Amino acid sequence: MTPEEFRRYGHQAIDWVADYLAHPERYPVLPSVTPGQLTDALPACGPERGESMDAILADFERLIVPATTHWNHPGFMAYFATSGSPAGVLGELLTAALNGNGMLWKTSPAITELEQVTLRWLRQWTGLPDDWFGVTYDTASTASMHAIAAAREAADPGARTRGAAPGLVVYTSEQSHSSIEKGAMAVGMGQDHVRKVPVDAEFRMRPDALAELIERDLARGLRPCCVTATVGTTSTTSVDPVPAIADICERHALWLHVDAAYAGSAAVAPEFRWALAGCERADSLVTNPHKWLMTPVDCSVFYTRRPEILRRAFSLVPEYLTTKDDPRALNLMDYGVPLGHRFRALKLWFVMRSFGREGLAALIREHVRLAQDLAREIDGDPRFERTAPTPFSVVCFRYKGSDEENRRIQDRVNATGDIFLSGTVLNGRFTLRLAIGNQATTAAHVARAWELVRAQVA
Ligand code: PLP
Repeated sequence: MTPEEFRRYGHQAIDWVADYLAHPERYPVLPSVTPGQLTDALPACGPERGESMDAILADFERLIVPATTHWNHPGFMAYFATSGSPAGVLGELLTAALNGNGMLWKTSPAITELEQVTLRWLRQWTGLPDDWFGVTYDTASTASMHAIAAAREAADPGARTRGAAPGLVVYTSEQSHSSIEKGAMAVGMGQDHVRKVPVDAEFRMRPDALAELIERDLARGLRPCCVTATVGTTSTTSVDPVPAIADICERHALWLHVDAAYAGSAAVAPEFRWALAGCERADSLVTNPHKWLMTPVDCSVFYTRRPEILRRAFSLVPEYLTTKDDPRALNLMDYGVPLGHRFRALKLWFVMRSFGREGLAALIREHVRLAQDLAREIDGDPRFERTAPTPFSVVCFRYKGSDEENRRIQDRVNATGDIFLSGTVLNGRFTLRLAIGNQATTAAHVARAWELVRAQVA
């Protein structure tokens, strides 16, 4: 491609993105395709000869876009709704252009240092300790896996050479994300050594039950090693009582990891700082700007106050990667499994500078307000009930009927193409779950969702 062609197609692509981000609701939020439909529409083998960009871009619109679930759609209210804001998209574009790899400081000083700077800003904005070390990973799942590996390294320093000692135990609540259990599986601790601590009526980990499980394991000769608390659980956005959990961790010298993948972002607004209370006593914490901080996927931020343990667990420098840098030069490859390190900080920097802390706080505040307004509407309709408190921007509720009726409501609402809701199971019953987190979502979109839900039972 000549530079001139690149310029022409680049303008075309940016024009497409500008129109798309201005009007994502032109598309149905959920595509009406069946499994395998896109695969069948695409050639079975890649082209022998290069094709024209005109043909590739035309197929993008003709085939790819119609098979896309539009996370940018203001009616996307499933899982945790997210936004790839325009500023973040531009950052991602330039990341692709630079195509850097920040495995070592010298392989891209900008990747290493801008990451440290943006993660410091984020610590300041969310009230986390200033002396923590931060690194980005692709996802919170990867981050939590690294936290569990670091916890194991702290408890069992020989693990990296002779393999993991048996009997190390991880504790997390019944409501925590599956990535915690997966992390324990991945580092070889085994699912049998993951304790799911019971929760209270508001789906928060019960510290008394945690303490009891630890005592029971100790009595059986097992080795408690790590506790993961959640700030903003996946189903209900509940906040575990981190200060009480930290007390127990300190008593038993256990690694405390906090999964704040969703709700950590809320702390950029001072009135939600309460959610991170006690987290300054944690050993590590993950939060995902790609969830609620308007940053395109992927961007997960991992903090630890014990980076030397993470480094001890993962640093392995072959001959071909040794450097004679200034010892202050940070080599990000020492802090995890991946060698390559994407320039994620560039898009985060674009987002943080373009919105400012106040801009991000205002969006989060608005999302929470929309959710609270909807919660009140639901409370006022005797046919429905809320199934969990609504501390942030996710509302869990159900029609006072059977699970089957509630699943039918979800399916019918989703079939409209206007709104995408997901569900979960709470106290053994299926419940609808409406998550607000998209930059473009307004009161009108939430009203439309509520209207559609009610229309299914009228
Ligand atoms: N932790 C929590 C609380 C989540 O809700 C999720 C996903 O929704 C994750 C972790 C996993 O996030 P990721 O997709 O970044 O691995």
